[in-house]
Amino acid sequence: MKKISIGLWVFFFTTIIWSQKKSPNIILMIGDGMGLTQISSGMYANDNSTALEQFDYIGLSKTASFDKLITDSAASGTAMATGIKTNNKVLGISPDNIHQKSILEICKEKGYKTALIATSSIVHATPASFYAKENSRYNYENIALQLRNHNIDIFIGGGSKYFTTRKDKRNLINEMFEYKFIKSLDELEKSISTKVGYFTYFDEPPSILNGRPANLDLITRTVLNKLSLNKSPFIVVIEGSQIDWGGHDNDSKMVLSEFIDFDSAVKEALEFAKNDGNTLVVVTADHETGGMSLNGGEINNVNIKFNTKSHTGTMVPVFSFGPSSETFSGIYENTQIFYKLRESIK
Ligand code: MG
Ligand code: ZN
Repeated sequence: MKKISIGLWVFFFTTIIWSQKKSPNIILMIGDGMGLTQISSGMYANDNSTALEQFDYIGLSKTASFDKLITDSAASGTAMATGIKTNNKVLGISPDNIHQKSILEICKEKGYKTALIATSSIVHATPASFYAKENSRYNYENIALQLRNHNIDIFIGGGSKYFTTRKDKRNLINEMFEYKFIKSLDELEKSISTKVGYFTYFDEPPSILNGRPANLDLITRTVLNKLSLNKSPFIVVIEGSQIDWGGHDNDSKMVLSEFIDFDSAVKEALEFAKNDGNTLVVVTADHETGGMSLNGGEINNVNIKFNTKSHTGTMVPVFSFGPSSETFSGIYENTQIFYKLRESIK
């Protein structure tokens, strides 16, 4: 009799430990336009150091879209969010017109808490690819409507004008009565609401060089602390949106400052994961922007050249840490990021 009850206890504990391992938290971080040169020059500009050095595994992701060698952020966001290659400019819909479920939506169905953070507007292509199904990434007011009808627990980004100053005269912020809308990080920390929206700017947020606070690390820490108060696991998608915009402008100072802000958030995510022990952190890019190259100079003052104002087709790195991180080593299509994440929560 005693032997049976010990056996039962062992069974219960093994089941508990096993089931814990089955549902890790996920932090997916996307540096838009963040190729190896953006990382290298950002690292040199940051006292020759980046949080990415601490990751367990590194892979390479092939970024071509369904119709183009050179992807845009809608198609590559869709690839990572839903696991399908689609045409440039399309969000969450396959070339044969089928709406795809995103990893955020799949996690939600499995009882995860969800959060979405961007340093662009929240309706911009990369964050939108995790909740919207739209044939054009530029239908911002439709995309806002889809966020209104989605059930993301915490979202932070710019672009409140697409919710309040619309052609259809609706005020989506008033309609989203289940959300608490806050106006500062301080309020986010104190808020006890389960659903929180934080519009950082009316329009697209400015770059750090033009006055946006370099606080993605604080935002990340606050959101992770808030989500970890729940019993259920969580998935957070965080985008460093403007590394890409620096590339389009061929503005190396902008690329470096935006990378360093993003890197500080990666550091926070990694620290959280190390303490937690059951959090998978994946950091990658949707594509490279600018054909950026590092042409001499000194380690603390590198010479940077760009050879295009557009995106390029080079592979981008994938850094992973935590449970299932080993599955992210190797070379694979960007759609595999979705499948590897989905596999990690089984
Ligand atoms: Mg983006
Ligand atoms: Zn771009």
